[in-house]
Amino acid sequence: MDATVERIGTGKRVGVLTSGGDAQGMNAAVRAVVRTCLSHGAEVYAIYEGYQGMIDGGDGIRRLQWGDVSNILHRGGTVIGTFRSPEFRERDGRRRAAANLLRHGIDRLVVIGGDGSLSGLNALSAEWPELLDELVAAGEVSRDLADAHPALRFAGLVGSIDNDLVGTDMTIGADTALHRIVDAIDALTSTAASHQRSFVVEVMGRHCGYLALMAAIAGGCDYVLVPENPPEDGWEDRMCAELRRGRRAGRRDSIVIVAEGATDRSGNPIRADHVKQIIEERLGEDTRVTILGHVQRGGTPSAFDRWCSSVLGYEAALEVIGDHPSDGPVIGWRGNRVTRLPLLEAVERTRAVPVDIAAGNFAAAMAARGGSFADMFAIFREMAEPSRIDADASSKRIAIIHGGGLAPGMNPIARAAVRLGISRGHTMLGVHGGFPGLRDGRIAELEWGDVEGWTGDGGAHLGLRREIPTVEELYAISRALEEHKVDALLVAGGWNAYRSAHLLYSERDRYPAFRLPIVCLPASIDNNLPGSDLSVGTDTALKALVDVIDGVKMSAEAAHRMFVVETMGRWCGYLALVGGLAGGAELVYLHEDGITLDRLNRDVSWAVNSFAGGRQLVLAVRNERANESYTTDVLARIFEEEGGNLFDVRQAVVGHQQQGGAPTPFDRLLGTRLVARALALIDEEFAAGTTEGYYIGLVGASLSHRPLSGMMAEMDPVFRRPKQQWWLGLRDVVHAVAVQPGDRPRG
Ligand code: ADP
Repeated sequence: MDATVERIGTGKRVGVLTSGGDAQGMNAAVRAVVRTCLSHGAEVYAIYEGYQGMIDGGDGIRRLQWGDVSNILHRGGTVIGTFRSPEFRERDGRRRAAANLLRHGIDRLVVIGGDGSLSGLNALSAEWPELLDELVAAGEVSRDLADAHPALRFAGLVGSIDNDLVGTDMTIGADTALHRIVDAIDALTSTAASHQRSFVVEVMGRHCGYLALMAAIAGGCDYVLVPENPPEDGWEDRMCAELRRGRRAGRRDSIVIVAEGATDRSGNPIRADHVKQIIEERLGEDTRVTILGHVQRGGTPSAFDRWCSSVLGYEAALEVIGDHPSDGPVIGWRGNRVTRLPLLEAVERTRAVPVDIAAGNFAAAMAARGGSFADMFAIFREMAEPSRIDADASSKRIAIIHGGGLAPGMNPIARAAVRLGISRGHTMLGVHGGFPGLRDGRIAELEWGDVEGWTGDGGAHLGLRREIPTVEELYAISRALEEHKVDALLVAGGWNAYRSAHLLYSERDRYPAFRLPIVCLPASIDNNLPGSDLSVGTDTALKALVDVIDGVKMSAEAAHRMFVVETMGRWCGYLALVGGLAGGAELVYLHEDGITLDRLNRDVSWAVNSFAGGRQLVLAVRNERANESYTTDVLARIFEEEGGNLFDVRQAVVGHQQQGGAPTPFDRLLGTRLVARALALIDEEFAAGTTEGYYIGLVGASLSHRPLSGMMAEMDPVFRRPKQQWWLGLRDVVHAVAVQPGDRPRG
């Protein structure tokens, strides 16, 4: 063996590989692992073609530098290749792999793959000391080299479009796959509706019904078949009865989603063709089958798969280069936070699900998917089933109202509210035109069929206005609530909607009509509402921003160019920071951080030096209200002036397309979950005979609610954002991955 290699091995050397099925977002994760390692002074090596590169050694293991992972965020698949390596399943293969790692002084490993890949990682790490002893005994490595690497430090990230790892809510690639499916369903819906046709759509998911169920909810479909919860015998009759009722209640199309691993209770596969045959025979409807197949793996990664995978890659790198291993080296995503799982437990629990399904233990399989999966299954059933179309006299009357700025996702929220509310026995009312509409009594009943097709629609069919009611208007509002016998108010909107709801709540002593349950649900692209990590609409706005960033980056291919991209968000920098992370920005300007001349000076000299050193592109994302004086135009001009002939500067302002556009699957699903929670809270108030007000949201891993009475204390009224903002912690990730350490703007 090469003597120079013998001397290496005291520094921190990290290997990173992608293995198993490819998934969108793997590149973002690799990029973040590489750059975080480099930012922390560790060396990092790509292991190409999964475990096979480790076994083959040679060119299969290559040291990476900062620029080697440039320009890969937007790419699908994995640029370091993936492979299913049968040899790695054998101990001999793993021994050769260990020898090659040692030869490069690598004893820290980040593996991005599915449960198979994590099993491989588990085997390698468990056997590591023995493998090293064997290699020493065989004279393949020296005792000193083996002793210098007594243990393998590792972290696992879950890349799987199926979203099948038990213990995490989202795996890398699942959100993008869901985008592909929901795009296809939206497209089918329009043609199906024109011809009154039925479609059966088969989606991926051999043992996991995540994609099928979430696509069915986000796509507003009629029936879903998932592996974890096979339908009871006689499902064919029930399915047809439901489709028939749906048609009678106003549906023009019928869409059934079948997961590829769906079976009946006896374990017999249910294939899309079979479902088509049943619908044609029993309902006499023209029915088409669409099998989405590899389209689901294709395309560019979603904004979520870019920023979340970047966060996960950052955490994985810290895990392996830190001084102490944690007992949760599998790093996943739960609710809206990083979660850590023990390796063996994560794999074993995941592997148990197909076993449970095969054994007919469906309750265990459903439970393994987590509480929100079971909740969503129940929500889907309720929404798809037009069980009770006419309200009776005893039903409560719940009004839904929007306010604040427009947010993509308001229509699916209204649709979910109407369908779930009706299913729970209520009469649902829509307030047209926000709080001014409420003042004017523009309130009308919404029936099950009225919200048909709303799930994929941008905008807000109920209309909305930004105005907060004045004190003079409160009397008219109270009269309208009384006249229309409104028993509860569901407020879905942004900052001014929350302020308006709080105003009614605070005036309840003076106006008895305001003594009714009120629940505020966050819907705003600004993501500036208290009590929720994320607002509905934010993900769609991020998507619009990332689309623009991708476009402008491509336009600069042949030039030396800097882009200053301005995003909406008012004073809240969420879109700028997270969009910057997803889009690969080098510079991010937030109101929370401020912009000073001092900082600009540093950034300008960095940019000038960088372009002088050969850089072709710099991307800066600026939040629209980051600073009153240093506007986007001013920033661009300063850089342009100072850049001289080295580079030119272009601006792109992402305006109202962030508020419009079809809501993303994530926004549709979050809206639906929040509506179900809001209605449950309202029902609790009805049952208890109380009239409390709440604002609800996703905080960390779960949905929660807080009383309206405490809301103002959480808000910064001047800059219209919560006093505490969880996402500011993501600045560390941006810092680690945006600009090479030696090259950073100095201050
Ligand atoms: P995924 O990681 O997507 O679940 P696979 O199950 O095909 O995909 O696993 C990917 C690779 O991980 C396999 O080709 C093999 O190299 C390795 N691997 C899987 N299971 C094991 C195991 N039990 N022991 C060792 N290596 C394994």
